[in-house]
Amino acid sequence: MPAYEYRCNACGRPVTLTFKSYAAYDEARAAGLTCPYCSAADLTRLISRVAVAKPGRDYGALSSGEMLNVLEGGDTREIGRMFEQAGQDQAMNDPAMREVGERLLKGESPGSIERDFKTTPVPPAPPPAS
Ligand SMILES: [Zn+2]
Repeated sequence: MPAYEYRCNACGRPVTLTFKSYAAYDEARAAGLTCPYCSAADLTRLISRVAVAKPGRDYGALSSGEMLNVLEGGDTREIGRMFEQAGQDQAMNDPAMREVGERLLKGESPGSIERDFKTTPVPPAPPPAS
């Protein structure tokens, strides 16, 4: 699921927008992206801090927010691949990401780590289906 990071120029908050598909992203962009907090249509795209060209899915290019999306997915094999790859990349120079990796290796649940690291407010989500 594509995720993009923005900063809202109206309220100054970091905004992460996720879309069901790239087509949905294009549609939303054509319609005009708005801030989930204050509804301003004044978002500036933030450029990924790390960009390493690699075949396949490049976890090294993920922002910390996108990494949390992977953790949120709870797919342990994908999480393992992410950290295996990120371990060889600049992403692991980020102390927060290194700590996440170490805590995962100690068997801590992705959910509890995520709660500690999710420092930016998130838009209200619908209640889980279960
Ligand atoms: Zn805003």
